[in-house]
Amino acid sequence: MPDTPRDLVARINRLRRERRAVILAHNYQLGEVQDVADFTGDSLDLSRKAAATDAEVIVFCGVHFMAETAKILSPRKTVLLPDPASGCPMADMIDGPALRKLKTEHPGAAVVCYVNSSAEVKAECDVCCTSANADKVVASIPADREVLFVPDKFLGGHVQRKLGRPMTLWPGFCPTHARILPEHVERRRREHPGAVVLAHPECRAEVSAMADAVLSTSGMLRFARESEARVFIVATEVGLLHRLQLDSPAKTFVAATEQAVCPNMKRNTLEKVLWALEELRTPIEVPEDVRARAETSLQRMLDVR
Ligand code: SF4
Repeated sequence: MPDTPRDLVARINRLRRERRAVILAHNYQLGEVQDVADFTGDSLDLSRKAAATDAEVIVFCGVHFMAETAKILSPRKTVLLPDPASGCPMADMIDGPALRKLKTEHPGAAVVCYVNSSAEVKAECDVCCTSANADKVVASIPADREVLFVPDKFLGGHVQRKLGRPMTLWPGFCPTHARILPEHVERRRREHPGAVVLAHPECRAEVSAMADAVLSTSGMLRFARESEARVFIVATEVGLLHRLQLDSPAKTFVAATEQAVCPNMKRNTLEKVLWALEELRTPIEVPEDVRARAETSLQRMLDVR
């Protein structure tokens, strides 16, 4: 007889203890995977929390670049990605050689890379940023220095508008957030008059322009908790609704569109988490020279006040 979800959770819990493992789940993971995790959150926050534990094994329920980020910050821990095929199409829109070519074409420019990028790209940039701190990071660069922003043109465009500072934007984007269209938001507004619209900066500029607030996932959680509003239209990957609802149970959260599903984020299941712990698979490795340079880019971001 196949395992019930309860059996799976019991076996995961036993192995988690035996392996001295910590399970991380990104906010966009399936609800049952979020529920079994030690920590849920955004990728950098999770990697930092895991690095601060004395766990020997990190099971990262997310996509490949996130597990790499955990490895960058915890080189001596074993970092496992339950489904090794879970990549990020946006992170894959630029690689090391492409970024090196861009840098040659823009000598002297500062390179800011969104954490949604490979370790190789992080190693090539000057400073990383998250969707929560991208504006602060860019503002920390002297105004007379050109800025190359990779890989997300929508996040870069949002920062550009906010700071009134032109940048050279790599034409990458998140296909999941790009599925959210202004007509989806308009329809939800008609269905829920007075609802507050929250949009992630990975959304198209037209969608961000319609939002009451443009926020990272952790920013949305905080905003919803602190707001007097009762109903929210959420323009980001639908997995965040699970967290929002747990966090603010008395409020109503509606996806801008149910089509905003990242198929890569949904590849990790309870079974795969169990198999990862049973067989210590799939370990993520980052060459030490790349890891060390990528860590410097992350550290520079953390040093920005
Ligand atoms: S939601 Fe977008 S940015 Fe996040 S992993 Fe999926 S494709 Fe990549």
